[in-house]
Amino acid sequence: MKRFVQFIAGAICPDCKSKDTIALNPTNDEIYCVKCNFVEKRPETNDLKKNEEIKVINIKDYKKNKDNK
Ligand SMILES: [Zn+2]
Repeated sequence: MKRFVQFIAGAICPDCKSKDTIALNPTNDEIYCVKCNFVEKRPETNDLKKNEEIKVINIKDYKKNKDNK
């Protein structure tokens, strides 16, 4: 079974300040950082919605891209 992770494009982790590391949990009600242990309830304000662009990518591809950098 393939595993998909939904990343929020352009989101910056408030904890480790990394970009594009914020992902949604499978139930879409929490966001978390793949680099550190940051977890937060997903904001319900429209603030985030403007810039929010959900990218669904294969976790394997993500790791491959990371290694290339
Ligand atoms: Zn982080």
